[in-house]
Amino acid sequence: MIRIFGGPTRYVQGPGAIGELGTLTERLTKRPLLVVDADVLPFVEAQLSTAFTGRPSITLAFRGEVTHAAIDLLVEQADDADCVIGIGGGKGLDAAKGVAFKLGLPFIAVPSIASNDSPTGRSMAIYNDEHVLVAIETIPDSPLLVVTDTQLIANAPARFLRTGMGDALAKKFEAERAVADGASNFFGTGQLRTALAIADACYQTLREHGVAAMAAAERHEPDEAFEAVVEANVLMAGLAWESGGLSYAHAVVRGLVKARGAASAPHGDHVGYATLVQLAIEGRDDGFILDVIGFNRSVGLPASLAELDMGSPTPDEIAEIARLTTIGPKGGRIIVNADPGQIADAIKRVEQLATRES
Ligand SMILES: [Zn+2]
Repeated sequence: MIRIFGGPTRYVQGPGAIGELGTLTERLTKRPLLVVDADVLPFVEAQLSTAFTGRPSITLAFRGEVTHAAIDLLVEQADDADCVIGIGGGKGLDAAKGVAFKLGLPFIAVPSIASNDSPTGRSMAIYNDEHVLVAIETIPDSPLLVVTDTQLIANAPARFLRTGMGDALAKKFEAERAVADGASNFFGTGQLRTALAIADACYQTLREHGVAAMAAAERHEPDEAFEAVVEANVLMAGLAWESGGLSYAHAVVRGLVKARGAASAPHGDHVGYATLVQLAIEGRDDGFILDVIGFNRSVGLPASLAELDMGSPTPDEIAEIARLTTIGPKGGRIIVNADPGQIADAIKRVEQLATRES
C-alpha cells in the first residue's frame, strides 16, 4: 500500500521572521507577486520593500471574499511573476493560493494570524458573492516555504490564537479516527505514522502551553509558550490534517455553520466545540470528555452550544445539526459512520456534561 506524507519544503518561525523574507526567497523567486491582505499591508509594507529591494516585485492588496472573479482580477495584474507570496489571514492566503493555482506558479505563505492550519496546506476555500462556500480547490504542490512571524501574529487580537487552538485541538482525535475508519488523508492515501505522531504532539502542545500562550497573546508579547502554540496551530495541525485526515469534529461543523446563533462563530470555535461531540460519538467516558471541556474553558473556547451563542437548543435544532453532519460534499474524504440519532445523542451528552461543569 502506498501512503503519502506531505508538507511545505521549508517552515520558518520566530519574531521578526518576515524581515528574513528577502534572503529566504532569494533562490526561489526572481519576480515575486505579493498578494497581501489589505488590512495587514500597512504593518508590513516597509519590511517588504526592504526585503525585495533590487528585485522586480508586484504587490497587490486584497480585500473581500475569495471568489473566482476576485482571483481572476489578481491574475490579470500578475504580469510575468514567477512565484506567488501570500501574506495575511485565511482569506488573503487563499486568494494568493488561487492566483498561484491559476498561473501554475509555486506558492509561499506568510500567515499574519494563527487562527487556522491552512498556511502549510494545499487547499483553499472558494466562495460566491453571497459568501457561500462553493468549492475547496487544491494547488498541486505544497507551499515552497511558510514564514510565520510570531511578532506579527502576536500583534493581532488574542482571539485569533484561541480559535486556531480550537481547530488544532481536534487533529489528534480526527487523524486517529480517520485511521480507525479507513478514511484516506488529503493526499488520497492511507496514513504514515509520522502524521499521527505529529497530531499527538499538536494536542500535547496545546494542553501544556495553551493557557500561557493565551496570556502572551493578550500581552502581544511572543514567549516560548506562544511560539509552541503557534507551531501547533499552524505547522503541526496543518501537517496532521493533510497527511492524517479529518473526521467527526469537522463534519459537525457542517451543521454548526447553519445553526441559530452558532453560525457566525469562527471556524476554530466550531471545531473546538465539535471535538467534544466527536469524543462523545466515540463513546469516551465522562472523565475524558470533562477533562477536554476543562481545557476548552481554560483558554476560552466554547464547551457547549450556549457558549457558541445558541442558547437553549431545542431537540429539533440538535437533530438538524446531526442531520447536516452526515451530509458531506461529493468525493469528500471524511467518513461518517454514526447515524443522525447517535450524533444528536452525543451533542446532548456534551450539553449535559458541560452544564454539570459550569
Ligand atoms: Zn479546520
